[in-house]
Amino acid sequence: MAIDASLIEADANKQNSTPKEDWDAASIDPADAPRAVREYLETLDEAAFGAASEVQPKFTSHSDPASQWTAARKGPAFFSYSDNYLIDTDHGVIVDVEATRSIRQAEVGSTKTMLDRVKTRFDLHPQRLIADTAYGTGPMLGWLVDRKIAPHIPVFDKSGRSDGTWSRADFKWDAESDQYVCPEGQALKQFRRNYSDPNRGPSSEGRAKYRALKLTCQACPSKQKCCPNADARSITREEHEDARQVARDIAKTKQYDISMKLRKKVEMLFAHLKRILGLGRLRLRGPCGANDEFLLAATAQNLRKLAKIFPAPQQMRKA
Ligand code: SF4
Repeated sequence: MAIDASLIEADANKQNSTPKEDWDAASIDPADAPRAVREYLETLDEAAFGAASEVQPKFTSHSDPASQWTAARKGPAFFSYSDNYLIDTDHGVIVDVEATRSIRQAEVGSTKTMLDRVKTRFDLHPQRLIADTAYGTGPMLGWLVDRKIAPHIPVFDKSGRSDGTWSRADFKWDAESDQYVCPEGQALKQFRRNYSDPNRGPSSEGRAKYRALKLTCQACPSKQKCCPNADARSITREEHEDARQVARDIAKTKQYDISMKLRKKVEMLFAHLKRILGLGRLRLRGPCGANDEFLLAATAQNLRKLAKIFPAPQQMRKA
């Protein structure tokens, strides 16, 4: 299966909106509010909408406050919803669809919702999931690997260095000894003694720090290439690093190259949705309105696809 999201403009305008400094959701009386505003209030705690991020949007629409003010298309900003598709890459059939806020956390969160739903409804469990870098975060990869779904996803990794010095990828992970080995063959360890203090373990976010010995680094001929501004080299190991490594190893396979081509099938469905079905802007407001329109459009796309896969039997003319 493959997953992706696309922005669809909401039926909302900037002229009818409020900047974040002046927006006060608590002052809205639900009894007096239109349906789209009531839905906004009802979805404030949902992971796909209000709870997806604590960052307040720059502007909030009065007519459709659940829509997201976004400049993600690198052009002028607008209010939008994200249309999320989970597709079967063998046939290009959409197996699930979900409307979310147009922010990465909500789009990535919809992956879990949709994969769980197709498992419950259709007993479908993909061997692999194909997606772009936005889905390659540690927690997402960890979630997939735990469920035995191979992540054909580029790893979202900020550990690369732009100054030419060695990055984390240049150090070898030795799981058995719980240490990294640097290109000079020296060990970077988390602990060099047995500590009884539990605070010396990984941080609350699951990060652990591995350090080389100061004496070793000071005498190392590669110090300039490794840690020119520090006494000794240290490396942070993020939570879900094992799952990241699974994704990195998959990225070296031929199947991964095929997967990256198959990913285009979702993009083609979004292009068809906008250009041929003309869904560039929503007509309905609120999360339910967006969900209904996305579901109907995906159904139309599937019917078209299924008609091609299973053509109607030819009627025999009577003599
Ligand atoms: S500076 Fe330290 S960590 Fe870096 S290569 Fe040399 S010994 Fe290894």
